[in-house]
Amino acid sequence: MIPVNEPLFGEKEKEYLIRCIETGWIGSDGQFVKEFEEKFASYIGRKYGVAVSSGTAALEVAVKAVGISSEDEVIMPTFTIISCAQAIVKVGAKPVLVDADYRTFNMIVNDIEKKITEKTKAIMIVHIYGLPVDVEPVRNLAKKYGLLIIEDSAEAIGLEYKEKLCGSFGDVSVFSFYTNKHIATGEGGMILTDDEEIAEKCKYYRNLCFSTDPALRFVHEDIGWNYRMTNLQAAVGLAQIERISDIIQKKRWIGRKYNELLLDIPHVYLPVEKTDYAENIYWVYPIVIKDEYEKDAKEVMKALRQMGIDTRPFFYPMHKQPVFNRMGLFLGEHYPNSEKLYEKGFYIPSGIALTEEQILKVSEAMHEVFK
Ligand SMILES: *Cc1c(COP(=O)(O)O)cnc(C)c1O
Repeated sequence: MIPVNEPLFGEKEKEYLIRCIETGWIGSDGQFVKEFEEKFASYIGRKYGVAVSSGTAALEVAVKAVGISSEDEVIMPTFTIISCAQAIVKVGAKPVLVDADYRTFNMIVNDIEKKITEKTKAIMIVHIYGLPVDVEPVRNLAKKYGLLIIEDSAEAIGLEYKEKLCGSFGDVSVFSFYTNKHIATGEGGMILTDDEEIAEKCKYYRNLCFSTDPALRFVHEDIGWNYRMTNLQAAVGLAQIERISDIIQKKRWIGRKYNELLLDIPHVYLPVEKTDYAENIYWVYPIVIKDEYEKDAKEVMKALRQMGIDTRPFFYPMHKQPVFNRMGLFLGEHYPNSEKLYEKGFYIPSGIALTEEQILKVSEAMHEVFK
């Protein structure tokens, strides 16, 4: 089976991990955590980095730290991972959804303004699958209506929007270092901001709101989480940030190979290589089956699996999630592009350990299935 993702580690990861073991610094107080926070923030071009235990944790802490609460609405894409919506729901606020563009998978920014109400407090932008949200119009809206921007860059480490890296655009921006992300620490995440107060709040909430006064350590003024990152995870992350350009180059090489090899399959849309504002980074390699073709994504994925090719379905839109519908959210709402993307879309193997030989095998299987 060719897995949909396989990470690739180097000697540096080993060296740093051994240093953790030999020095005994395996918890969250180690030097690698601080160094990873600093190096990652400086790579993206932000002042402060707060490392946490996952991208989901980063979203929860970020939403709380910017002060989203039960009276607020947050505008966000329906075509995304549940972590985004659940971070909003968990503070008692209301997610307000926007459909995805059918070819770039990102939220249709022209649909945002009509969703703004008196209660809107923030816009959550999420860069999807390898291309960024068109950020500039969103920033203009945020300025015009006095809204915060929460940016989810989990899938966009190293991706540029108009020559600036994703993760530069939010009042808070979050990242994930889950095993299939460009930097993979097993589990892990990071919050970036230029606002010292927000950064301090993030540190407070990730660490159970312990008092900073040592004498009052176990006296708590608020409720937080234990979402700390360990030194072991940071050691692995630090090794990878040091060779991030090689990682990005490899992902783009995989994407371009597939673009060439799959171009002659008439029944599918391949990912958009370029927009006016960005060049695809191919976090995953998404395929969308065209309408005229008789099979949907589920059937094609099954056929590929039988030929030894692992795949993943696209996101199931937030407005269709049973858990949210049971809470009375999004009832009767429809976002046709996102619904159809779920029916027609899937992604094929593209982890950084993927070899040319494996790419050729995937391509052969794709040609056979769509013959
Ligand atoms: C992966 C991902 C997350 C969640 O990150 P975890 O580390 O898996 O919790 C959040 N948002 C987006 C867009 C993601 O792709």
